[in-house]
Amino acid sequence: MIIRPKVRGFVCVTSHPTGCAANVQEQIDYVKSQPAINDGPKNALIIGASTGYGLASRIAAAFGCKANTLGIFFERPSERGRTATPGWYNSVALENAAKAEGLYASSLNGDAFSNKIKEQAIERIQSDMGKIDLVIYSLASPRRTDPETGEVYRSTLKPIGRDYSNKYLDTDKKTIQEASLEAATDEDISSTVKVMGGEDWELWIQALKEANVLADNCKTVAYDYIGPQVTWPIYKDGTIGRAKIDLRRAKEAINQSLGSLGGEAHVSVNKAVVTQASSAIPGVNLYVTILFKIMKELGGHEGCIEQMSRLFSDRLYSNGGTVPLDELGLIRMDDWEMEQKIQDAVSDVWPRVNTDTINELTDFEGYQSEFLRLFGFGVDGVDYEAEVEPEVEFS
Ligand code: NAD
Repeated sequence: MIIRPKVRGFVCVTSHPTGCAANVQEQIDYVKSQPAINDGPKNALIIGASTGYGLASRIAAAFGCKANTLGIFFERPSERGRTATPGWYNSVALENAAKAEGLYASSLNGDAFSNKIKEQAIERIQSDMGKIDLVIYSLASPRRTDPETGEVYRSTLKPIGRDYSNKYLDTDKKTIQEASLEAATDEDISSTVKVMGGEDWELWIQALKEANVLADNCKTVAYDYIGPQVTWPIYKDGTIGRAKIDLRRAKEAINQSLGSLGGEAHVSVNKAVVTQASSAIPGVNLYVTILFKIMKELGGHEGCIEQMSRLFSDRLYSNGGTVPLDELGLIRMDDWEMEQKIQDAVSDVWPRVNTDTINELTDFEGYQSEFLRLFGFGVDGVDYEAEVEPEVEFS
């Protein structure tokens, strides 16, 4: 069939297998163009490995460090003529590329929050990999079923303490409007912490440690975002920000529990990029379109793969093994985004941006093209007029 993008709000309900594979290959090529990383991981487990930062982490581990990788994700295969989700196509492409280079790569598609997937991952590690020396935790999920009680929790993106309104970019209509968001209830806050906080990261590390599949001196990293003041009411000071505070709490707890192995847990604060998760955050997409224009002009613009390549080469596996941290004990990959000159430029543009000035003040086109690329559309060298088979299986 010929596959075209069908965008519905902040998702595209179709995806292109050849385009997704080409996207993965571009990321692999980028990593291979960088200097080789010495002393990188040998066996990495990536939880949330199919898109965004998790996929880029997996590529950095496999193709930058020659690591064997086990990827966990929750994706939908193609069925009855419907295309698979992009993470499915990405992961098939990644496994094929890794195997072609003689690297072990295997995947588990299912609910990472469940005990079942944790058990399956441990079995896979025991039978195929031995011990894991890097665990990346990169889940972004709207809901979580508690593995013990069966209760379902939903994460929300809401301000805390008071209702909040701010500018919002409607990417379908290419307009900037005012959007109002109701203040979170206590239940919204606790549910978001339950889904996007650190509890499940702790459960993963506990299960891996109890099964004796963590190597001495292993590292584990989870991802965080802080961002500029214009997004704080909805991000840092909102429900998702509370979940990130819990992630930092979990980091401390995991550090304690890994002490006996000489292991370490880190939280890396990453740059704002276009992913399926970030495009759903109200107001953040407008900030990203402004940020991209400024960073492309002033320098330092990065996507997921440049960020994760730099995380591995300049933070996790350099400096004689000491990971550079800020005063709060966090890895700062958002250092270039948060530079004063970049943020001053954002603050200058923010009050002036409106529907009439979108083209002049934002990188709307760049944002839209990156959004479509998440689904495999608009990738150089792909013939979108060619018939393509939507059913793609893992070999
Ligand atoms: P994403 O939507 O691209 O990826 C989410 C991943 O989680 C996918 O692999 C998906 O399959 C997997 N997943 C979701 N629910 C799952 C489940 N129940 N079981 C198994 N896998 C599941 O998201 P992203 O933007 O790459 O976000 C990853 C992390 O990075 C998040 O913690 C996010 O807060 C953080 N982060 C993102 C940005 C950004 O701008 N996108 C910036 C800084 C930090």
